[in-house]
Amino acid sequence: MTHPPAATNPAPKVRVVTLKIDDHDVGARETDSILEIAQANGIRIPSLCYLDGLSTWGACRLCMVEIEGFSKPVSACSTTATEGMKITTNSARLKRYRRMILELLFAERNHVCSVCVSNGHCELQDLAAECGMDHVRVPYRNATYTIDSSHDLFRVDHNRCVVCTRCVRVCDEIEGAHTWDVMGRGVNCQVITDLNQPWGDSQSCTSCGKCVQVCPTGALVKKGTAAGEMEKHDDFVPYLAQMRKRQ
Ligand code: SF4
Ligand code: SF4
Repeated sequence: MTHPPAATNPAPKVRVVTLKIDDHDVGARETDSILEIAQANGIRIPSLCYLDGLSTWGACRLCMVEIEGFSKPVSACSTTATEGMKITTNSARLKRYRRMILELLFAERNHVCSVCVSNGHCELQDLAAECGMDHVRVPYRNATYTIDSSHDLFRVDHNRCVVCTRCVRVCDEIEGAHTWDVMGRGVNCQVITDLNQPWGDSQSCTSCGKCVQVCPTGALVKKGTAAGEMEKHDDFVPYLAQMRKRQ
């Protein structure tokens, strides 16, 4: 006896759109963000809080782009493509804004690269070089933040944190532990482990090290590593995110 074919849900229809990024004509799915489209087409847009495979946070604003007809720049990571968009990624205004954002990040906490274990392997440092930030024109806050070395394997230095929340998102969305979270508002924002307990006392942390690998600065490091060993490897995130979606 033959059985009728099992009913399958039709795949959701996603329209293809065409748009222009700088001088390039590109095609994309209407669900793609401008940042994803640019990356897929080899067009560089600076970003810091964005990481492929994690949810979009849109906080750092470094990936701002201009869209014809829009009065203000928008963040490329959280804006989806629409048909006929004309996008500029690198105008004089955007370069000015990006440099100012980086200066504010450097002034907010104590990013003294010469005494940081991630010197030479830091996305913040790389972005400063890329965006021509050779000095800071605003007063440094010189606030003192704590260093938590209570974990057997890892250390968090809040002086180096840019509150990008990559650690929060990877721990929640990929590892499923949700050890990290954010406490406070504005300039008093700080990442915390569990209910602001020392990381070494955490009952939820599995010591997987994912948060350390995705941290763009020297805020999260593996203990006992020298500056030359601090290259981070975050390319596992999209793969694990795909695997989790399939479960
Ligand atoms: S080591 Fe793993 S479980 Fe622990 S805080 Fe980092 S990502 Fe979360
Ligand atoms: S500790 Fe690192 S990954 Fe976490 S928010 Fe700070 S800079 Fe980002």
